Amino acid sequence: MNLPFAFINEPLERADLLRRDPQRLDALRSSAYCFWLDAHGKVAIDAEGMPQIVRGVPEYAVFLGCTTSGEPWFAAQHAGAFAGHLAQTDLRQAALHWPAFWATLYAQARAVLHWQKSHRFCPACAQPLIYRHGGWQGDCSGCGRVEYPRSDPAVIVAVTDGERLLLGRQSGWPARRYSTLAGFVEPGETLEQAIIREVWEESRVHVLRSRYLASQPWPFPGSLMLGFIAHAQADMPQTGQDELEDARWFSRDQIQAAMVADADEAAPLRLSPPTSISRWLIGQWLAGERA
Ligand SMILES: [Zn+2]
Repeated sequence: MNLPFAFINEPLERADLLRRDPQRLDALRSSAYCFWLDAHGKVAIDAEGMPQIVRGVPEYAVFLGCTTSGEPWFAAQHAGAFAGHLAQTDLRQAALHWPAFWATLYAQARAVLHWQKSHRFCPACAQPLIYRHGGWQGDCSGCGRVEYPRSDPAVIVAVTDGERLLLGRQSGWPARRYSTLAGFVEPGETLEQAIIREVWEESRVHVLRSRYLASQPWPFPGSLMLGFIAHAQADMPQTGQDELEDARWFSRDQIQAAMVADADEAAPLRLSPPTSISRWLIGQWLAGERA
């Protein structure tokens, strides 16, 4: 099923058997494609706004996987920033403007390269990690401990009282932009418990039940957004105790109007971009999904 938000459609086949075969991987490097990021996670683009792709892969590149036609793809990161005169884009812009294949590949590359960059040393003995399995495993050169790339689970939830939808906004956002509530899952907590806690912390609204709908990788830098719909008591939202500047209930008519007023910066309510699972969850609630 193709879902209408970014980073999930047309993924590469991750080819675990190839990852575990260093000789075959090395043989691919001279002709394979490499997707380059700079130190800030940006990508150089051509005149059409598409990524500049080169053949030939450095030894330290991460193996991303293969296309359905068997084409191998790697990703690598420059130590510095791209020169200022080079046209470049970031993942948020790419999500809006690139075809699904490229946006999904970029998201995968950004996530795994960020993990490598921020996990260069063993957390137990501080010796350097040596990356194996195409870059998807870090073996400690000192104590032998093995590290794997991780994703940080976060719940994102369309909360309804049966009639209205609860949305919140952070102070740094564009004027009148509201979104579904979200937060990281804590150790020892279920997803359902995280939803109850986060919605309470951010709005003082009591969630009664929730149901999982879909997920979205969110490599800013390493989250996995787990999308739910939840039914809550019709409590009066209160903010101020957490990072939200405001949270309030919106009527079906208000949400419907915001969905069609997309590009209008003067609209009374502005939602997250259509590339986000937040926007999709709001659409699911409008379409009649219930917890
Ligand atoms: Zn170690």
